[in-house]
Amino acid sequence: MSPACALCTEAGGEVLWQAPWLRVVHANEPDYPGWLRVIPTAHAAELTDLPPTARHALWAVLEAAERVLREVMQPDKVNLASLGNHVPHVHWHMIARYRDDRHFPDSVWAAPRRPQAAQHPQRASRAQQLTAALQTALQPWANGSQA
Ligand SMILES: [Zn+2]
Repeated sequence: MSPACALCTEAGGEVLWQAPWLRVVHANEPDYPGWLRVIPTAHAAELTDLPPTARHALWAVLEAAERVLREVMQPDKVNLASLGNHVPHVHWHMIARYRDDRHFPDSVWAAPRRPQAAQHPQRASRAQQLTAALQTALQPWANGSQA
């Protein structure tokens, strides 16, 4: 843990699934109801700073979470990004993208292409199902390796 690190001291979003070694949070970005962050607990700046078992388990969780995001949010595309320039603690953004979202086809960090997000109440409604679906899908990795 690094006391100066925001992801060591704060959840980084609404926690949807948590194990001692990793958590999946909802970013609560209003224009992006299907925006998750996958955050290992250990403070490490780069992926290769994590031990191999943690890297492999992290990748398995990313795959499982992506399957959940696709099933629940039914996006046109999934974006997966690990930046960490502002917060140098390895974490992945997993974002359900739609052709009519504010930035599509650009990244969510680019200048918006549309002034407003298209209104799709069903997407926000679907996001309510993410917690239960993640709990089921990620349970095998609760201890950091598949049971
Ligand atoms: Zn940290």
